[in-house]
Formats: sequence, structure tokens, C-alpha cells
Amino acid sequence: MVAGGAGFIGSHLCEALHGSGAAVVCIDNMVTGSPENIAHLVGDPRFALIEHDISQPLPATLPAASVVFHLASPASPLAYGEHPVETLEAGSLGTFNLMRYAQECGARFVLASTSEVYGDPLEHPQRETYRGNVSPVGPRCAYDESKRFSEAVAATFARYFGADVGIARIFNTFGSRMQRNDGRLVPAAMCQALTDAPISVYGSGEQTRSLCHVSDTVAGLLALARSAQFGPFNIGNPDEMPVLEIAQTIRDLCGSSSPIIHTDPVDDDPRVRCPDISRATEQLDWQPEVATRDGLLRTIPYFRAVVTAAA
Ligand code: NAD
Repeated sequence: MVAGGAGFIGSHLCEALHGSGAAVVCIDNMVTGSPENIAHLVGDPRFALIEHDISQPLPATLPAASVVFHLASPASPLAYGEHPVETLEAGSLGTFNLMRYAQECGARFVLASTSEVYGDPLEHPQRETYRGNVSPVGPRCAYDESKRFSEAVAATFARYFGADVGIARIFNTFGSRMQRNDGRLVPAAMCQALTDAPISVYGSGEQTRSLCHVSDTVAGLLALARSAQFGPFNIGNPDEMPVLEIAQTIRDLCGSSSPIIHTDPVDDDPRVRCPDISRATEQLDWQPEVATRDGLLRTIPYFRAVVTAAA
């Protein structure tokens, strides 16, 4: 079962699971996802789509699963800014519902947590032992705290009830099926570059990000699902770059002449973001295979089609 399977990462995960021969149930309320992302799987006998809000009691008719992936949450700052209550509910009520369902089925529960649990980190690069620098009342609190709470639910069920749990702390992931207007760096800069519009960079652009291609993130989630490890595991690409350099690279790869403009910095925007992935490499035998530049090149045709369709 993939909760949030009609979203960006979830749809690639559904595709990979289906491609490996598994039967996949996708449960999604489409708050930020789209049926289009999984349209090519719908109708296949090994794929089922259930439109449902995981914060509500789960349908009694759900088939038993062997693995439950919990990716159901608004994920971009724009999306959780528009849906803060839904975000808190998905990470609290929704996590309880999925965790209990996984327990009833005897399924492994794989939680898609986030690097945002580290907040604006004072340790760099971030290891899983770092406890974070997060404001429980700041502008990102609905997302950050819902994920921290989800981790606490998963850890508690593992500790007290012997639940089979794995936690992935996903760092910035990019690729096809991201929403054009979700406010994240790659879709925004790529669509601006492809339309020769000014590319906007928050603040000076010296803040860093490390970008992981979605195929590598999905491979990390699958490696975690196959293992018996709890983690938490950082799943991301440690190739760290200043945001300004990422914007310039996107512009060059798109063959664009867009100017780069600096807009006001965003409140609570982390200054640095880079995973230490040694735990995942050692315990899951996983590391990213796609260089950032290659991943960006693979993503351009998707956004080219998106901007062409919009025009
Ligand atoms: P997304 O918004 O594209 O996908 C999330 C999916 O969950 C959507 O299809 C949405 O409709 C669904 N959903 C949300 N609330 C739901 C609910 N209450 N009931 C049922 N479905 C619900 O986001 P994404 O980028 O694919 O992220 C997937 C997961 O990975 C999220 O949990 C996110 O926090 C995590 N993550 C993503 C990134 C990233 O860079 N994309 C980084 C860190 C963590």
C-alpha cells in the first residue's frame, strides 16, 4: 500500500513496485496529488486506486498489505502553507490510522519523514543523531512538527508493540511529476528558464541545497522496505550546492537567457541542507546513482512539455 501514491514521489514508487511484480494499492485524497500521475497504472489488475483521506478512519474493506508506505502529506512550503490543518492531521491522525492498519496486517510500515525534522540545522552535514533546530511555532511548524510527531508514533509502536517500522528522512527530491507551481526550486527555476522568464532566487542564493533525483529516493525507500532496519535513515544526495549555482546550472542546461533576480529571503529558510548518508550506505547498501546535473537533464523534457501545454 502506498498512501500518497498519486503524488510526485508516491507515483514513482507505485510504478517501481508495480514494475517489480507487486500488487499495489494507492490511497490518496488528491489534495496535492493528481490522478494523471498514476493514470497509466489505473485499470491494471495489479493496481488499485482508493480515493480516501487517511486522516479519516480507513475503509474496512482495505485488502491486507505486506508493506505500508506513508507518503501522504502536503510536502512543499506552498502546499502546507495552503493546507496547514490537513498537514497536521495527515501527520497525526493519518499516521495513527496507517500505523494501526499496518499492525493489524502484520505489515512493515515505512514512513516518509523529512530533512525538515532538522529545521535550520546547527550540525552540518546532518547525521541522523542530530536532534534538530526546529521552531514548534514558526512558519513551517505544521509540516516540521507533523513529521516529528509521525516519527514519534512510529518509534512508539516499534518500541512498545514490536511494530516493524522503518523511517526515511527524505532530503530535497526532484524529477518529473513535480507540480509546476509548488514553489520549490527546481520546478520554479526550470519553468522560468524554459520560458525565458526571470529566474527568482530567495535572498543571496548562498543558502545550500542537495538535490536527489526521484529514482534514487525511490530506490532508498525500497531498500528500507526490504530491510528490517528501523533507522532513521537520511535519504538524499550529499552533493551540496548553493541555490544560486543550482539556478545557474538549470538555466545553462535549458539553454536559456533568463536573468537571475534575487527576491526577499523566506522566514525560517534553512541556510544549509546536506545529508550524511553513511548510515544508509552501510545498513541499506544504498547511495544515489544519479548526479544532480544528469537528474536535471532527465527532468527538462517533462517541464518542457508542461510549459508547452500551458502555453
Ligand atoms: P506530493 O504532494 O506530490 O505527494 C503527497 C501525496 O499525498 C499527494 O498525492 C496528496 O494528495 C496525498 N495526500 C496528502 N494528504 C493526504 C491525506 N490526508 N490522505 C490521503 N492522501 C493524502 O509530495 P511529494 O513531494 O511526493 O512528497 C511525498 C512524501 O515525501 C511526503 O510525505 C513528504 O513529506 C515527503 N518528502 C518529500 C520531499 C521532496 O523533496 N519531495 C522531501 C522530504 C520529504
